[in-house]
Amino acid sequence: MAMTGMDIYKNLPKSNCKECGFPTCLAFAMQVAAKQKALTDCPQLSDEAKDAFADASAPPMKLVHIGPEGDAQVKIGQETVMFRHEDKFYNASALAGKVAASLSDEEASARLRQINEAAFSRIGQDISVSMAAVEVEGLSADAAAGRAKTLADASRVPLILMGSDPAVVAAAAGAIADKKPLIYQATADNAEAMIKVAADNKCPLAATADTLEELADLARSAADAGVGDVVLSFDGRDTAKTLRNITSARRAALKKNFRALGFPAMVDAACDDPFKETVLAATFTAKYAGIIIINGLDGSELIPLLTAAQNIYTDPQVPNTVEAKLYEVGDVTDSSPVLFTTNFALTYFSVEGEVERSKVPSYICVVDTEGLGVLNAYAGDKISPEKVVKTLGEQSVADKVKHRKLIIPGLLPPFRAEIEDTSEWKEVIIGPESATGIPRFLAENWN
Ligand code: SF4
Repeated sequence: MAMTGMDIYKNLPKSNCKECGFPTCLAFAMQVAAKQKALTDCPQLSDEAKDAFADASAPPMKLVHIGPEGDAQVKIGQETVMFRHEDKFYNASALAGKVAASLSDEEASARLRQINEAAFSRIGQDISVSMAAVEVEGLSADAAAGRAKTLADASRVPLILMGSDPAVVAAAAGAIADKKPLIYQATADNAEAMIKVAADNKCPLAATADTLEELADLARSAADAGVGDVVLSFDGRDTAKTLRNITSARRAALKKNFRALGFPAMVDAACDDPFKETVLAATFTAKYAGIIIINGLDGSELIPLLTAAQNIYTDPQVPNTVEAKLYEVGDVTDSSPVLFTTNFALTYFSVEGEVERSKVPSYICVVDTEGLGVLNAYAGDKISPEKVVKTLGEQSVADKVKHRKLIIPGLLPPFRAEIEDTSEWKEVIIGPESATGIPRFLAENWN
């Protein structure tokens, strides 16, 4: 039976020393109960308590770090549920752009530059390709080491070293061991030597096998050799089998506490057909890959995939919001238009993006609607003319402009009369229903 926060708390020193990074032992215990921390993360824990409870309280899926410490380090795993609505998914899938061994050195460097530059901004967050999967298959050991070193030095993201020959992968790993690449991958044919490469270089290891039983054996062998950071690897081309196995592995780890499969998964979805690759990668973003290897680096493939990962790995119980305040877009003056919208992040950033596109510097007054978009907020009684007027006052918007014109969302025309009747905003203009109409609307209605 799962230990509760209080069960765990009873076994802690209760000194509130904060060495674990939490303000109190109780706060730490709650994190252990939520499977986000291991009991052994408390440095004050007695050896007896460690022996008695560490295994029972350890997260069912290990958190695996790839790359050196820092912002670009990839963290995958430590998931706790099969379905997002049960709690949330914690560590978003990382997309890895493949650098094929067949490329010349110049082509490989150019490809890495593409990976470095594959970054976008969406609803105020940076989303990007997070890894480079550098294939060394078929290269000599010297060439593999040289390529790994050149690309690792130029990369903003951690590397995966892909190859089946342990001697070649060892040369590449040895050249960039300080970058903590993911060694890809141990198979039934090379397991002993590939595990040694990971152990010697203190790197995480990907392992693959035909069956989950064999995969569990490989993970146990890695652990016995001192390689604790393992990633379960699956081939995306056999989609049905991979979906079955990746789901069964996760269920065994989370529901049965089967430690040998208690690791994050990865899928090689790279193929020549960009449409098929996008579908495969999207499928395994949802279920349940921590890393997905792809070929395509075009925005038409990346943006949908990164958006999917961003959406799936948000907390479904916490609305995605922005601060309710007055935003200035561009070099505003006292003649700039004033618009209002809600604090649902997707709504706000859609409006902000379109105002930017209009090139008309504007004020955007954001009303706190508890994270709901315009229509939902209206239907749920989270926005009203009275609340808009109150917010305009709290944000001192009238002090910023000399006019008293207010552009309201086109979905809220009933607000016009009441705002005009009850406030100093005497000219309320009904804007477009959709944010995409803002540039044209401002061009035609604001001089
Ligand atoms: S390190 Fe241990 S004893 Fe100190 S606050 Fe954290 S849980 Fe409590």
